[in-house]
Amino acid sequence: MLCPCGCGDSIELMVMKGVAPRWTIHADAKNRPTLHPSIWRQSGCGSHFWLKSGRVVWCRPESQVNRF
Ligand SMILES: [Zn+2]
Repeated sequence: MLCPCGCGDSIELMVMKGVAPRWTIHADAKNRPTLHPSIWRQSGCGSHFWLKSGRVVWCRPESQVNRF
């Protein structure tokens, strides 16, 4: 997936070889993904957000919600 902040970086969540999956994904009745825990990029733009029911929820004081 592309970083939702618009920086253009791609975020590779599921393709880390040799390590146990760090995130768990739950799909709701409409097959919208919810990801746990939150996604926090330690490099690049430093985005920190949740993915809840297919929507990006920013972990910022000025929280905003973007449609995926
Ligand atoms: Zn970004």
